[in-house]
Amino acid sequence: MLSSLIQGAGRAAKIAQDAAQLVFGWDEPAVAATAGSPSEAGGDMARAERAAPADASALLARLRSMGLRHVDALLLTTNRRTMVSIKGRMLRVHEGYLAAGNDVLTAIVAFVMARRGAGRTAAMHVIIGYARGLTEHSAPARVARTHPADEALAERLEIAHAELNEARFGGELQGVPVRVSRRMKSRLGHYSPARGGEGAEIAISQQHLKKHGWASAMETLLHEMVHQWQAETGRPLDHGTQFRKKAREVGIRPRATRAVD
Ligand SMILES: [Zn+2]
Repeated sequence: MLSSLIQGAGRAAKIAQDAAQLVFGWDEPAVAATAGSPSEAGGDMARAERAAPADASALLARLRSMGLRHVDALLLTTNRRTMVSIKGRMLRVHEGYLAAGNDVLTAIVAFVMARRGAGRTAAMHVIIGYARGLTEHSAPARVARTHPADEALAERLEIAHAELNEARFGGELQGVPVRVSRRMKSRLGHYSPARGGEGAEIAISQQHLKKHGWASAMETLLHEMVHQWQAETGRPLDHGTQFRKKAREVGIRPRATRAVD
């Protein structure tokens, strides 16, 4: 059981059709390096402070120098879905964060130390924002993209996805990009499973957000997350018995996405 887990960051997901994809997969066994030993010498920390940390050990020392406690080991991951996660006393951080600035590293420390509450949400913003920033410059263009004016909304939706994943799905879903669609008129939202090199994504209708508001959009997001759960657990994507059961479990009315009127 993960005590806390940030997943997601949509555009982050796009960073790497090839290499540095910053949307990370908890379920993939990729492991780059481990740093252990609960105690680090102060001198090492001071040195780590000056240059970008080069490996797991240096990153752990840096985070400790910034106030990280109760973590015995840091694992750098190269998998695609998990940016930062803490399970027991083991911290996993995607290797893309080796290049992050102090503000982002501070957010990682805050995320781990404040497992709940406002401080944690703010930290998630910074951590996800960093991954999104990386991908904006290196991601290949998607066919359908979020309108620039809706970017902030898309980011809020991705954070909501990470929070709902933790709160309602026990953190079992992968992070996916959440896109705001201005074209989507007849549906409120849509989940597309990964295929042909394109990663999975969730799209939420901008018109739906505008007309029905955030709370209603959260229901739609949860609805699409149930479809995501179906896809990730090898179930058919439908509104059948299992869909309805899971929908009730995560706290939404088990109905098909209604059309925007
Ligand atoms: Zn549906």
